[in-house]
Amino acid sequence: MAATIGFIGLGNMGGPMAANLIKAGHRVLGFDLAEPALDALEKAGGERAGGVVALASEADVVVSMLPAGAHVRKIYLGDDGVLANAKAGALLIDSSTIDVDSARTFAAAAAERGFPMVDAPVSGGVAGAAAGTLTFMVGGTDDAFERAKPYLAVMGKTVVHAGGSGNGQAAKICNNMILGISMIGVSEAFVLAERLGLEAQKLFDISSTASGQCWSLTSYCPVPGPLPASPANNDYTPGFAAEMMLKDLKLAQEAAHASGAATPLGAEAAALYSLFCNSGGEGADFSAIVKFLRGSA
Ligand code: NAD
Repeated sequence: MAATIGFIGLGNMGGPMAANLIKAGHRVLGFDLAEPALDALEKAGGERAGGVVALASEADVVVSMLPAGAHVRKIYLGDDGVLANAKAGALLIDSSTIDVDSARTFAAAAAERGFPMVDAPVSGGVAGAAAGTLTFMVGGTDDAFERAKPYLAVMGKTVVHAGGSGNGQAAKICNNMILGISMIGVSEAFVLAERLGLEAQKLFDISSTASGQCWSLTSYCPVPGPLPASPANNDYTPGFAAEMMLKDLKLAQEAAHASGAATPLGAEAAALYSLFCNSGGEGADFSAIVKFLRGSA
């Protein structure tokens, strides 16, 4: 059934996600601090909201796709935030990647006011947002998940209920910690192979069918050649920027410290991506860490 959806944060991800909701027949009211983002929404058939208060007071469903936890806090809490101004029973969906504790705090504050809220971070990048093929990792009650699912299914291909509030964010940072560590491992292997006189294509052919096989190797190979579509063949234009990987690795480290989990390789991956970003790599694709390891960044 068509709903009025208030979409806050119409950037690289939020813009195309909102466009897919419009294509599916929903009325989308959008808000962003950036004028070009609002222009793009109007072009896609959406409407500008005057601000968060105006948006929240009309929306059946609020979706947010903001940079980090501080932005989400600002939008949801406070007198001019979503919680103080939303329609009774409105469904709240935050798809930003933020820390687990904040996600749980916001969901609890929403529940106190009678609003079901899910954390629903995504994997799949800008291309997945445009194609409507994102994976959503969802944290929240069974009821909130069931209500959110039809809207998420419009923007994504896979919608997984990961458990209670915050578990979507937990799944996202655990997954991206695996990805950061494995990308460094694969990159180190290519650098070592070069030093040993083993061609990159040979290593790819062997390891992609042997025990070294993993997504970082066979879907996102960090050296040019073996996979023509990987960012390595396009001068490491993102894709998924190194600074975003660093953000997610830092979130994983915060969560590891807070929960007492031992994640020594996660810590090392965060340190390496921090060095890479500080030496000018922040805007490159995260697979460009191979150049840093080679000493050619
Ligand atoms: P982005 O910076 O392109 O978009 C964020 C938008 O939020 C911007 O348009 C900005 O103007 C707007 N904004 C910031 N503060 C605001 C406020 N107070 N009120 C209204 N609008 C505000 O970022 P993005 O790439 O779209 O990423 C959004 C989230 O998705 C992040 O949490 C990111 O970690 C996550 N994510 C991104 C990708 C990716 O590949 N880009 C992939 C998976 C997850």
